[in-house]
Amino acid sequence: MMVLDKEDGVPMLSVQPKGKQKGCAGCNRKIKDRYLLKALDKYWHEDCLKCACCDCRLGEVGSTLYTKANLILCRRDYLRLFGTTGNCAACSKLIPAFEMVMRARENVYHLDCFACQLCNQRFCVGDKFFLKNNMILCQMDYEEGQLNGSFEPQVQ
Ligand SMILES: [Zn+2]
Ligand SMILES: [Zn+2]
Ligand SMILES: [Zn+2]
Ligand SMILES: [Zn+2]
Repeated sequence: MMVLDKEDGVPMLSVQPKGKQKGCAGCNRKIKDRYLLKALDKYWHEDCLKCACCDCRLGEVGSTLYTKANLILCRRDYLRLFGTTGNCAACSKLIPAFEMVMRARENVYHLDCFACQLCNQRFCVGDKFFLKNNMILCQMDYEEGQLNGSFEPQVQ
C-alpha cells in the first residue's frame, strides 16, 4: 500500500514541434528533434528530461514525472524518497516509504513500535503475537486477557 501525494505528479507530453524552434529547459540548446517533451510548461529534449536520482529518461518510463524540493524524479525514486507506507497503527504517525516496517494483517508499524502494547515486550522472528481490538499482544497478555475476559488497555 503506497500513499502518494497526487499534486507532485506532473504529466509529460510528447509533441511534435510546431513553428519556431523551442529551447530545451535542460541544456538550453534548440530542439531539432522530431519529437520533444513538454512538461512543467517547458520543452525538453527526450534525452534531457531525466530523473535526478537514477538518470533514467523519464519520457521512456511513463507519462508522469514527479517534482519535489526542486528535484525531477521518476515515480520509483519519488516513492522511495517521499512516499509513505501508511500510518503506524501503534503511534499513528506517517511511515516514510524507505523505512522498514512490520506488518500484521492490514496494519503497518514502525519497527520500534512493534511490541506488545501492554508489557512492551518486543518480538523476535518466530515469536507469536496476537492482534486483539487492533492491539498487538504477546502470548502471555493475550492468554491473560482471555481469562479475564477483557481486552481494554490497562492504564498504568
Ligand atoms: Zn536538451
Ligand atoms: Zn529515477
Ligand atoms: Zn509508530
Ligand atoms: Zn505483553
